[in-house]
Amino acid sequence: MGFLQGFVPTINIISPGRINLIGEHTDYNLGYVLPTAIEKRILLKFQKNGTDTQCRVYSKDFDKGFEFDLKRISRSDNDWENYVLGVLNEITKRTDKVRGFDCVLESDLPLGSGLSSSAALECGMAFGLNELFDLELSKMDIVTLSQIAEHTYVGTQCGIMDQFASVMSEKGHVILLDCRSLEHDLISADLDPYKIIMLNTGVSHSLATSEYNKRKAECEEGVSILKRENPEIKSLRDVSRETLKRFKNEMDPVVYKRCHFIIEENQRVLEMAKALKDNNLEKVGTILYKAHEGISKEYEVSCTESDFLVDYAKENPSVLGARQTGGGFGGCTLNIVHKTGVKNFIDTAIDAYKKEFGRELIAFEASPSGGTAKL
Ligand code: ADP
Ligand code: MG
Repeated sequence: MGFLQGFVPTINIISPGRINLIGEHTDYNLGYVLPTAIEKRILLKFQKNGTDTQCRVYSKDFDKGFEFDLKRISRSDNDWENYVLGVLNEITKRTDKVRGFDCVLESDLPLGSGLSSSAALECGMAFGLNELFDLELSKMDIVTLSQIAEHTYVGTQCGIMDQFASVMSEKGHVILLDCRSLEHDLISADLDPYKIIMLNTGVSHSLATSEYNKRKAECEEGVSILKRENPEIKSLRDVSRETLKRFKNEMDPVVYKRCHFIIEENQRVLEMAKALKDNNLEKVGTILYKAHEGISKEYEVSCTESDFLVDYAKENPSVLGARQTGGGFGGCTLNIVHKTGVKNFIDTAIDAYKKEFGRELIAFEASPSGGTAKL
């Protein structure tokens, strides 16, 4: 892109990816989640370009850029541009203070691996423009407008967790977030002598958007049945184990399984928060294994590669627990590994994975980090 030569950024933003310790698919069911930002992030550099409405955005990772006019924002045929355009569409509804700008971004976050590079991109864009043009958007405005951008321009009906974690996290903590009220509690995540090791299956979840929307619809179907006799029920968050059980015969068995997973998973988030507060790391691990069983057998969003890695972790005495994280069908597994066993675990997992699938496994440590910030 032409502007890159004379590009002198005035504002640099880091916008992190996130992991979710537990609480998968609970967010759009208005339940609890337990995420935190990680050190991997997108770096976004901004400058005003002196024009009224001409904007240019360039992704170093894709070696691609595009231009658009603030007065004529519409969806693009190039997927990645929609994360940017969706955010601009929302921001320009809220303020008329944005003017022409240039943005260059680069990332060390793997895409489509369940670490939410999408929310990092949206929130980083919104955060940067807020700084560049003094838009007076609050952090919560940035979170919600980014979520809406993903719904309207990208077409993923995501919950609030990814954007919330990317923006609101604090170093050394996970966030116990109530996705219904948005009340949240920072919980110290001191796992020492254990570490959070992520294993990236390298399987990209191309299935994920359609299956994600399908799971969401299945949960809604469950709610619509439960509602008939319990009009106060608005989401699976409002449903107890006992209530669900009473409706078992009235539900399609698949819908029942999905609902059962969500209700159990929601309880697991609360148990996990307690286990962390009690520093009961054995329990942390047990909950993770239990969660993976649900992800794999009840919600059916795992895949052969993730199941293999979780089973592999179970055989290693240095590992307390493991599960697939993210929307599903690949992405990363999260493992709680004793620090003395990390190297052995990673090395042997890489070998075993290569042997089984002929693919490279990429491992990295994730440590709870702070949210989107100006450098
Ligand atoms: P995840 O959020 O788990 O990483 P998604 O499929 O939700 O997976 O989002 C990934 C998409 O976000 C990419 O396919 C791309 O369109 C966009 N994206 C993320 N990071 C970048 C980047 N550095 N440059 C361009 N687009 C990006
Ligand atoms: Mg995403």
